[in-house]
Amino acid sequence: MSAGHWDYEPFWKEVIDQIKHEITEQEFIMWFRNIEYHASDESQIILNVPSSFYKDQVTKRYLSLLENKLYDLSGNKIKIGFNIQLKVHEKSKKEKKEEPAPVQKKTVRTHPQLNKDYNFECFVIGENNSFAANAAIAIAKNPGTAYNPCLIYGGVGLGKTHLIQAIGNAAYSEFPHLKIVYVTAETFTNEFILSIKEKAAHKFKNKYRKVDVLLIDDIHFLPGKVETQEELFHTFNALYDANKQMVFTCDRPVSELKSLSDRLRSRFERGLNVDLQPPNYETRIAILKQKIETKKVAIPDEVIELICKNVTTNVRDLEKALTKLIAYADLVNKKITIDIAQRQLKDFFTHPQYKNITLALIQKAVADYFGISSNDLKCKKRTKAIAFPRQVAMFISREITEFSTTEVGLDFGGRDHTTVMHACQKIENRMKTDPTLEPTVQHLIKTIKTQNTSG
Ligand code: ADP
Ligand code: MG
Repeated sequence: MSAGHWDYEPFWKEVIDQIKHEITEQEFIMWFRNIEYHASDESQIILNVPSSFYKDQVTKRYLSLLENKLYDLSGNKIKIGFNIQLKVHEKSKKEKKEEPAPVQKKTVRTHPQLNKDYNFECFVIGENNSFAANAAIAIAKNPGTAYNPCLIYGGVGLGKTHLIQAIGNAAYSEFPHLKIVYVTAETFTNEFILSIKEKAAHKFKNKYRKVDVLLIDDIHFLPGKVETQEELFHTFNALYDANKQMVFTCDRPVSELKSLSDRLRSRFERGLNVDLQPPNYETRIAILKQKIETKKVAIPDEVIELICKNVTTNVRDLEKALTKLIAYADLVNKKITIDIAQRQLKDFFTHPQYKNITLALIQKAVADYFGISSNDLKCKKRTKAIAFPRQVAMFISREITEFSTTEVGLDFGGRDHTTVMHACQKIENRMKTDPTLEPTVQHLIKTIKTQNTSG
């Protein structure tokens, strides 16, 4: 493409210079390191990006910021266009092309104990996980300093293991001399028990108290294991006093772990606690596209959209759906079409009967039942007559829709997602002691579903 007599490259350079100072270093490296200026015409700048995934992410995150800056600098409405450089998987279809630069330029070393695919480069950051991901990136850069300990919590398949191992891999790349140990809480427990049996407690202590970075996955396994908790408590203190980095993951907030000693709980809660939420639609699309790129297959956008609309639970399920589809297409040697996807993925598309249930519908049904108004549920009032129905409505929202706690909180008068989690927990607990509550909730759910299909 000829640049004509338009050359906006100096503006672009200036924009990049400014951006560098406005976003974090990790973000900059993540999103701008692989972009290069390509050409300009009268109304736009064309940038080279390594994949459609990059294009989508940069568009979503930065496009308006970039275009505003270009406007401020030039006084012209200069748009930004993207030129996607073909990646390896397209090569099989077109004739051999010269190999473009791979996305990951840096040589990334993998810790021998860890999964090489669990790195930051292929972890898609969305609203649902950005706090946790950025904390993880920061920890890997500076273990033992800012966020120590760090606890990452969230439901199954949302990326806990991926993130905690990515910390290990990145820290290992950056600081090869550090002793990094990754272990699941289950393995930690088993090793501890074995060490006692074999009278080798000393060896066990040596192993875990002499590390620089200790990564323990799935600490929800610990409740009830009194001695292991005791041992971990002492390990924690030793490492903490020595400014060694610790990261833990858990499938729920530590406050909700039962049978955990108070002093261990308080240790987990001491540092940074960050959560992972289910990804929203846009992030699911970004994740799926990213996974597809690594698998070197061609999947039409409409199929990607179909999957992301229907598989809303977590990333693991998204991956399973993709794997199944690819396996099928491979086996029968067919192109993946929307019909094939629809037929093959039937089982993944859960709860079709719940589809389209809106939070407004739930709010109205619950409010009607308790003789209050939908607005009462969204307002600030915390009297019992309103707080209780509100908790019920939040609970039902989480039960029968796929809205995240963040989304539910927003729709209930802009409340925090922790409030929603709290409400659900309260209702669950109360159901155990109040035998009338469960039938009420079931009745409400039935009403809502009927209204949904009739409306
Ligand atoms: P958890 O430990 O929370 O159950 P995992 O870390 O095992 O979840 O994640 C399940 C799968 O989803 C893994 O293959 C992981 O790579 C993938 N995954 C999760 N979150 C993301 C993300 N944000 N970007 C890319 N892949 C992700
Ligand atoms: Mg896990």
